Amino acid sequence: MPRARNVILFIGDGMGISTVTAARIYAGQQLGLAGEEHRLSFEHFPQVALVKTYNTNQQVPDSAGTSTALHSGVKTRAGLIGLGPSARRGKCRSANGAELDSLLDLAEDRGYLTGLVTNTRITHATLATLYAHAADRDWESDAKLSTLAKLAGCKDIARQLVEYNRGDGIDVILGGGRQAFISRDLGGERDGRGVNLLKAWQSGKQRVLLDNAKQLARLETAAVNEQQVLGLFSASHMEYVARRRSSNSSEPDLPSMASKALALLQGREPGYLLVVEGGRIDHGHHQGKAGYALAQTVEFAEAVGRVLKQADLSETLIIVTADHSHTLTIGGYPTRGNPILGVVIENDRDGNPKQHAAVAADGKPYTTLAYQNGPGATQRPRDAPQTGIEAVQQALIPTAHGSRGRSFGTHSGEDVALYAIGAGAGHFGGVLEQEQVFHRIVQTLGWAPQLLATPTTAGNKAK
Ligand SMILES: [Zn+2]
Repeated sequence: MPRARNVILFIGDGMGISTVTAARIYAGQQLGLAGEEHRLSFEHFPQVALVKTYNTNQQVPDSAGTSTALHSGVKTRAGLIGLGPSARRGKCRSANGAELDSLLDLAEDRGYLTGLVTNTRITHATLATLYAHAADRDWESDAKLSTLAKLAGCKDIARQLVEYNRGDGIDVILGGGRQAFISRDLGGERDGRGVNLLKAWQSGKQRVLLDNAKQLARLETAAVNEQQVLGLFSASHMEYVARRRSSNSSEPDLPSMASKALALLQGREPGYLLVVEGGRIDHGHHQGKAGYALAQTVEFAEAVGRVLKQADLSETLIIVTADHSHTLTIGGYPTRGNPILGVVIENDRDGNPKQHAAVAADGKPYTTLAYQNGPGATQRPRDAPQTGIEAVQQALIPTAHGSRGRSFGTHSGEDVALYAIGAGAGHFGGVLEQEQVFHRIVQTLGWAPQLLATPTTAGNKAK
């Protein structure tokens, strides 16, 4: 089995298999095709596996537990950042002794170049599990730490990012979420006055701070040997693709960030680790907006496509997967090429599309895409369904999750897909526990073989 020198891990947050199917149809239809025959960039990869996503204490998982499993090789409890299942959510002291080493830690310890890219807040759960240890995913800034946690000496996630000290520190960090690093008087959310952790990060070494797309585009990638880059392009999460306008956004898109990060990391010994999260797929789904989620997925696939052209597959392993799924379904009997964000138009007896939309028992049309729960379930009796990119897809079960009692759709618990290409891709196949992905990456890189002895189903006992 060929070993890899470099690894690029792409995580589509909430990108379940129904999302991939719907996004491929959406992308195909944008190109003027019927859509179903289209393939997203990573659907050309030769290796595919299925990945089980449950947390040790939840049948349907959250992103903190799942990304800890992916990044550190130990299945754990929901809500925990980089901690094993002996820790308890919200209990600062329970983190003692439960800290896990991540792929990032192992890479930095070995002198690899490392990069993190996301379109969410950089302190949001999925990437935080690479560089932080926190008993609660919500502890993104000190303003969000509980008083008890502060008294017990726990550090917020933003502070852990700027103080990260394995190896020579993270080489490239691109994403959103400036607010967690800056005090309220300076426009952020941190406690105190005049606090700017980004400035603290910058002091000392050759470190470059960026805050808009133009700076990123102009950044020199040649001869950057000593340079480290931190680009935060928005106060909180970056804007949805569906809402981005050239006139109102100074944010770079995910393909530009991924491509630039790779250019900064390539060509140096002993190799690199790059992790790219498409984090807003999940958010579109939570809002019941399938159109948003699909547009994010298409952009995520474009980022994979860009990186694929740049990377040397003879020495680089590229993995595309999701942390968990969502309850998106593709139903009815729409005719071939029916707009994926539209209402169902069925075929007639001859197999040709009818002239009118199919109607449900209540006499109203329905869309192909729907959710089991979330904001789309709150209207009773049912309105005529919305369609198109802005539509809130209709849903069966009203749920009130999240802050201020707002309705959010939940994740779903079925397996997600993993796609692999390049050096060592043959290690990935079959049905995997999520934490096995980490162990197989470590094996492919030829790192620390003793780690492979770690039991991968420890979570079954450690509730
Ligand atoms: Zn989510």
